[in-house]
Amino acid sequence: MSTQSEITVVQGGRVIDPASGVDGIRSVVIRDGKIAAVAERTDVPAGARILDARGKWVTPGFVDLHVHLREPGQEYKETVATGTRAAVAGGFTSVCAMPNTVPANDNTSVTELMLARATAAGLARLYPVGAASKGRKGEDLAEYGELKAAGCVALSDDGSPVMSPSLMRRALEYSRAFGLPLAVHEEDLHLVGKGVMNEGPTATRLGLQGIPAQAEDVMVLRDLSLLELTGGRLHICHVSTAGAVRAIREAKRRGLPVTAEATPHHLTLTDEDVAASDYDTDFKMNPPLRSVADVKAVREGIADGTLDAIATDHAPHSPEEKKLEFDAALNGVLGLETAFPVCLELVRQGVLTERRLVEALTISAARCFSLPGGTLAVGAVADLAILDPGLAWVVDPVRGQSRSRNTPWKGKRLTGRCVETLVGGRQVYRLEDSP
Ligand SMILES: [Zn+2]
Repeated sequence: MSTQSEITVVQGGRVIDPASGVDGIRSVVIRDGKIAAVAERTDVPAGARILDARGKWVTPGFVDLHVHLREPGQEYKETVATGTRAAVAGGFTSVCAMPNTVPANDNTSVTELMLARATAAGLARLYPVGAASKGRKGEDLAEYGELKAAGCVALSDDGSPVMSPSLMRRALEYSRAFGLPLAVHEEDLHLVGKGVMNEGPTATRLGLQGIPAQAEDVMVLRDLSLLELTGGRLHICHVSTAGAVRAIREAKRRGLPVTAEATPHHLTLTDEDVAASDYDTDFKMNPPLRSVADVKAVREGIADGTLDAIATDHAPHSPEEKKLEFDAALNGVLGLETAFPVCLELVRQGVLTERRLVEALTISAARCFSLPGGTLAVGAVADLAILDPGLAWVVDPVRGQSRSRNTPWKGKRLTGRCVETLVGGRQVYRLEDSP
């Protein structure tokens, strides 16, 4: 008895797959959910489904190391279903869900619930990140072995720093024993104080309390120092300062096992945008938007690979939590549906090559947490994005796929958009079909 293979051929697109060194017009043949061939000429088997990608980029599906899907506990902001729908609409086929849910993902029942919801949604692949400490309270370590067995790919107290250096040391040692990366949100809360935006002339002018760049720098330096003691794998989330980039570059030069990510907003916006927006709280996030010099350093960090990956830190919030005075509003912005065009602007500005942009969104990200995917190599799962780099559109959060609307790019005209997304060879998003 033979089973009929399902074959899809993505034809005529510019395939950019940094992992296998391909950049050119190719056809991608997908058979039974896997990449069967990437070639300049292919015979199209009878019965194959053809996707016309002429004029488009065909890349591995993007891998986001850092999203907040809010389920369980805050489904009014986002659910696994709506969050993974936003992901595939932005070209992301794998997302790593941070553990600051309610309750926190510090035990297998939460991990299993998130995975079951993702399976039911059938959109992007979800990789849960387990809590580094019980309840993310920074007091006692969570059970890393159980979290790993349930499917967690990394550990983090993201949303909060691990303030205790001794707990941080033990978290590094314990995560090392289980072969899991420890992802850290770096801010010294004593230095943050009551700060709500980057410390500097803009904060002074706006009359808002500042957060010095050193709140991030000192924690990065501390954890790199502890990493030298313990070994293990340290991943630094949402790097936003020149000092942090410098410290990571130096640590990598010395061979320390550290990886890092930067967000689209820290690569493209500065604290002056808070002023220009007239206290719009969709420009309030943590870490805060930094100075022009910091943004320049973060850009250089992504360009030279000091910072491995672009991760969105997609952080949905309701209007009730955002439409408040700047001091009172919650931190965070959406990212999944706008990451590609926002970062493509860096290519147009000559900051990144096209290849490096795709690499930072795919294989470099996958490697940080040892995830499958991020490549179109033969035999890999057929997770891919078809992107129109020239498509201009105006961001209308009401029409977005996320349940929330807190984006600093609302009303902005962006160029570049994901038009179709495949996960395991299955079409999970098509711009034409979206409302
Ligand atoms: Zn964070």
